[in-house]
Amino acid sequence: MALIVQKYGGTSVGSVERIRSVARRIEHFHRQGHRLVVVPSAMAGETNRLLGLAKELSVSPDPRELDVVAATGEQVTIGLLAIALQERGLRAKSYTGAQVRILTDSAHTKARILQIDDARMRADLEAGTIVVVAGFQGIDEHGNITTLGRGGSDTSAVALAAALKADECQIYTDVDGVYTTDPRIVPEARRLDTITFEEMLELASQGSKVLQIRSVEFAGKYLVKLRVLSSFEAPESTSPGTLITFEEDDTMEQAIISGIAFNRDEAKVSVMGVEDRPGIAYAILGPIAQANIDVDMIVQNIGASGHTDFSFTVHRNEYQKAVDALRRARAAGSFEAREIIGDNRIAKVSVVGIGMRSHVGLASKMFKALADENINIQMISTSEIKIAVVIDEKYVELAVRVLHKAFELEKAPQSA
Ligand code: ASP
Ligand code: MG
Repeated sequence: MALIVQKYGGTSVGSVERIRSVARRIEHFHRQGHRLVVVPSAMAGETNRLLGLAKELSVSPDPRELDVVAATGEQVTIGLLAIALQERGLRAKSYTGAQVRILTDSAHTKARILQIDDARMRADLEAGTIVVVAGFQGIDEHGNITTLGRGGSDTSAVALAAALKADECQIYTDVDGVYTTDPRIVPEARRLDTITFEEMLELASQGSKVLQIRSVEFAGKYLVKLRVLSSFEAPESTSPGTLITFEEDDTMEQAIISGIAFNRDEAKVSVMGVEDRPGIAYAILGPIAQANIDVDMIVQNIGASGHTDFSFTVHRNEYQKAVDALRRARAAGSFEAREIIGDNRIAKVSVVGIGMRSHVGLASKMFKALADENINIQMISTSEIKIAVVIDEKYVELAVRVLHKAFELEKAPQSA
């Protein structure tokens, strides 16, 4: 008998029929003797619809009120799910984030969880009640409703699992696990039985959208056992999904490369012919940070005759803002440069694997595979377990396919 937190994504609770099916799955686990805390998202599309209504009234709605509106999506699904469970003869009770006191900071629309009061949930669980808690929302110390950022119910589930010291946190979604890459691009992509937290973080931050990145960080920090599964399989299905593990375990599959991630939401900004002097990186990136723009890759050339070129990538939505901030800084005399140019038709493709630590030659394998297809690499960045390249957006799918093939990711790795 285990204590399990189960999170169901928007498509899993997207209709009354889907909610009934989720209730059947929960009953299946309940009948096996497990204690369950269930965290649903809003019905698919609902959060977008709610935020859209607010945007019809105002171009920049008050974030506090946006949270009041957005949080209603999950309030609907917790109540509906509790009703569906009760219809099956089970004891179930729903709670909003405020009712179980998921205490967050006051950063509306992107709040962070500070503390969870587990007393009420524990009492219910002791009494054999299935506890249904709204994902995505909390309350700050002043009693304001907050939300955790898009995709935040993953983080709610992991935080509840950490607070309750649950045996496992299961994330049910519309895919049956984490894949070597997006199966819509590479049909041979393979579901991974396990992946390490570090790899998952890289894949998530590189644009793989299975889990909210903050939930993975949280799980890694609080040692929550996290598993991604499909809610579209029969409740009795024994498919294990993908388990996110804490460390390399010799008995588990030992892939050198675990997956290929890609991200089309990028843009590149280059400052050409800038003076090569101490403080220049700060002079360029300082204004970007001040404009609250996140920078991803940064590349500076070797200087020649006192000048160099400097490039970095930002989210595509912030491209214009970044270019404008630089032009203003140059006009104000923060730095001198021949030219500020950019390209918002780029994409990033990354090869991720913990085995990179102990294997050489992976970068050249990657570059050769791209060269064979005549794909030009514009920028490169590496970490201990990742090699990422920036390429022209129109070659993303081709790049992902050839890399998947080059690293033979369609084949199951041999166990050690
Ligand atoms: N309903 C919220 C969203 O759409 C939270 C979530 O689904 O995780 O972002
Ligand atoms: Mg989600």
